[in-house]
Amino acid sequence: MMVLTRKMIEIRTILQKVGQTGALTLPSIVVIGSQSSGKSSVLEAIVGHEFLPKGANMVTRRPIELTLVNTPDSPVEYGEFPTLNLGKITDFSHIQRTLTDLNLAVPEKDCVSDDPIRLTIYSKNVPDLSLIDLPGYIQLSALDQPDELKAKIFQLCDKYIQPPNVILAVSAADVDLANSTALRASRRVDPRGERTIGVITKMDLVDPDRGSNILRDKNYPLRLGYVGVVCKVPHSGGLFSRQVNVLNAITKNENAYFGQHQQFSGESGVTVGTYSLRRKLMEVLEATMAQSLQGTSDAIHQELEEASYEFKVQYNDRPLTAETYLAESLDSFKHSFKEFTELFGRPQVRMLLKQELDQRVLDILAQRYWNKPFSDLKKARLDEHPLSELAKVEPEELYWHRKLDGSSSALTKLGIGRLATNVVANSLSTQMDQLIESSTFRNHPFAKKAIQDSTNQILNERFYATSDQVENCIKPYKFEIEVDDREWSNSRENAQRLLKDELKACEDSYKRLRDQIGAKKLSSAMAFVDKIRNGKAPEMPEGTEALGFSQAMLEKGREGIFLRDRADIIKMRMLAVKSKGCATKDSKYSCPEVFMDVVAEKLTSTAVLFLNVELLSEFYYNFPRELDLRLGRHLSQAQIEAFAREDPKIRKHVDLQQRKQLLELALQKMDSLMALEKSKKAQTDPE
Ligand code: GDP
Repeated sequence: MMVLTRKMIEIRTILQKVGQTGALTLPSIVVIGSQSSGKSSVLEAIVGHEFLPKGANMVTRRPIELTLVNTPDSPVEYGEFPTLNLGKITDFSHIQRTLTDLNLAVPEKDCVSDDPIRLTIYSKNVPDLSLIDLPGYIQLSALDQPDELKAKIFQLCDKYIQPPNVILAVSAADVDLANSTALRASRRVDPRGERTIGVITKMDLVDPDRGSNILRDKNYPLRLGYVGVVCKVPHSGGLFSRQVNVLNAITKNENAYFGQHQQFSGESGVTVGTYSLRRKLMEVLEATMAQSLQGTSDAIHQELEEASYEFKVQYNDRPLTAETYLAESLDSFKHSFKEFTELFGRPQVRMLLKQELDQRVLDILAQRYWNKPFSDLKKARLDEHPLSELAKVEPEELYWHRKLDGSSSALTKLGIGRLATNVVANSLSTQMDQLIESSTFRNHPFAKKAIQDSTNQILNERFYATSDQVENCIKPYKFEIEVDDREWSNSRENAQRLLKDELKACEDSYKRLRDQIGAKKLSSAMAFVDKIRNGKAPEMPEGTEALGFSQAMLEKGREGIFLRDRADIIKMRMLAVKSKGCATKDSKYSCPEVFMDVVAEKLTSTAVLFLNVELLSEFYYNFPRELDLRLGRHLSQAQIEAFAREDPKIRKHVDLQQRKQLLELALQKMDSLMALEKSKKAQTDPE
């Protein structure tokens, strides 16, 4: 039993997960040979199946790292591409097709690629071996293959035939050995022939004397020797070759051929037959593995030390897995959500909604009361425009009643239900986004989406019910608004505050405009617009420029006048609201600002009651549950891994930790393997 090779292959599989670095490469048998030397036939004989790409123009374009794993207890033979996720492939023609596709996927212009294809074959008929099949050397560049391809194949092969690998140099018996590209390449890197096995194929094509002489080659003696084979895969239709083990058929063939000729008899001293070749490969690889034990162990030690050091320095040895990371992130998000729910309650919703309605009130007032240029108001007679001065409005006059009623219903019939629900839902949405941004989830598109989806789902589900409820409950205000003294005095203060803020906004806009185009220019543009308005300057037709004012400049002038007028009106209304004239609720017709605030207050208070119950509380209750559904136990291991890896920092942490663990595992196996070797040695040469 070749225990060592088997165990080393296991270790190699672990190391490959770590991301194989040069130092951690374990010895393999590298198969080289020129095209048509019979390289594929030899490999297939060893595996016992046809599985390599064939056919005209089918040049191997990528190295195939072939691992054979002996499974004595299993009747099923199958292959696996460990990096491709194709599962177990029991049909070897499927493996062949996959390899062909992978080959064809290398772009024509690249010729060959040094990115290896990994293939593992499990079978009770294969020995534990690790082989690398390389593109065949091209001898005649006349064949429609570019010179560049030839050079690239040489480079690629050179990379693989370095120590500690064993070279399997395949040459055909019917070609002069001196011309064997494989042997020439191997001689360059292994001049004393210490780690090269010579394979001479097509022994049936030369006469037995010549054949046996080749196997005793003195020009390039190999310590590991030459093996002669007849590897012609018997072709009796695809079905046959797939059902019968190729090696058995070949061995039968070879026995018949070599048995005929005494040049190859047991006493002749030459080695022939694929079966012997296979045995030799196992022994040589086992011995090479034994030699590289210490080196590999040292290399793993060093890698592990580096990984451990990095882990300590960078992460203070803090363990982290994808699961714990997700659980911690979720907990901490829920925690900050809880904090948020305590900060965003009824008073905050109330404020939000009132601000929104304040804006609507300002719009309605501007539309219905402050809708004349200030200059007109000043000129006008008091009874026509009583709001222009602190004038008395005749409370009995229908005109003022209609105006105020109209304004009030403009507000109450605005669709308060939808508006209020929207304002709160949007605010919740925005604040959830902010919560995400200040959490670890900000780097995780997947989790981000889960949170946003949870939020939207709950808010959408609650939207219509909430909006209808609110609308229903504010209904009475559409018909009548009753005001008491306390409400009036409250709203009077609110109105003053609102006007003050609006004045500031107006003045700020005006300042911005002035800074933008310059004070002088603005005031002359405004003066000109004033003139037009008072009929003292001709209205300019579209597109003309008069007196140095472009249309754009006149537009700025109009904007300036609008802001100035608005500021003047507001100042005037501030005085009015502050004055005795607005002191009591009886003055509501001449103080629409106060009255409208009363309406807005009433709408707000009523709406908030329902928003709180129907939307806010529901959201606060359901959100953490919804989140658990999307980010909790229901995720698969792969999803959790993928989630954690979205964050480059976490990926680095998890990777390093995994690397460290794998190296520890590899080292552990290595140590027991070395102990085993030692005890074996002690038994064989006791001293
Ligand atoms: P590769 O290009 O080096 O992989 O060579 P193949 O294994 O495809 O073999 C090239 C050709 O030589 C095929 O037609 C094989 O059937 C044939 N061949 C391979 N080995 C032998 C052998 O031992 N004897 C004979 N007669 N033909 C062989």
